[in-house]
Amino acid sequence: MSSADQYHAVTTAIENAAREAGRAPGSVALVAISKTKGEDEIVPVLQAGQRIFGENKVQESQAKWPPLKERFADIELRLVGPLQSNKTADAVALFDVIESVDREKIAREIAKEMAKQDRRPRLYVQVNIGEEEQKSGIMPKEAVAFVERCRSEHGLTIEGLMCIPPVDENPGPYFALLAKLAKEAGLDHLSMGMSGDYETAIAFGATSVRVGSAIFGARDDPAA
Ligand SMILES: *Cc1c(COP(=O)(O)O)cnc(C)c1O
Repeated sequence: MSSADQYHAVTTAIENAAREAGRAPGSVALVAISKTKGEDEIVPVLQAGQRIFGENKVQESQAKWPPLKERFADIELRLVGPLQSNKTADAVALFDVIESVDREKIAREIAKEMAKQDRRPRLYVQVNIGEEEQKSGIMPKEAVAFVERCRSEHGLTIEGLMCIPPVDENPGPYFALLAKLAKEAGLDHLSMGMSGDYETAIAFGATSVRVGSAIFGARDDPAA
């Protein structure tokens, strides 16, 4: 199947999963994760109608996306990978949504850059939902207080929570925990679910799913 066909299959599966969960078919946004993929692979998906894309590296996105943003109107670009503080200015300048706000220092830097650049990317707090050492994100028990501090100390508006559950485990309980934390923090947006588990995530209330390989095919470097 071409990536455009795979894209259509994913959008149909998302609508069906939403309906099965008793939700409106249009209530789940698809973020197409295009990391490591080149323009030749991304353009067919743009031509098929997709406009929301996610990347995990600032530098790679800076090279790839400005020309595509000129060619196609209304692109929404999301950063879903960890943000280093020395890349904050570039990230605020390029991305429409930053999903990986995960520590005090980054919250402070983002607030500073937003004021300086007069740009307001939408923000998600990333939660290390499985409390895994190798993953970034704020610990679940600290998440609600961190969202509060983003608001009160840094003046940031947080749109929702994001997570990546542990691989090779049933993701359901992790998605349920993220939904519970969001509710406690007064947030109604949940970024959860990837190629292997986005239908499950939708059953647990995902408002956006981040799907890469199911659209674009496997990545050459699986760790990318
Ligand atoms: C790579 C990546 C995805 C997409 O993963 P697939 O399994 O290819 O769908 C989603 N979210 C984040 C944060 C990623 O880094």
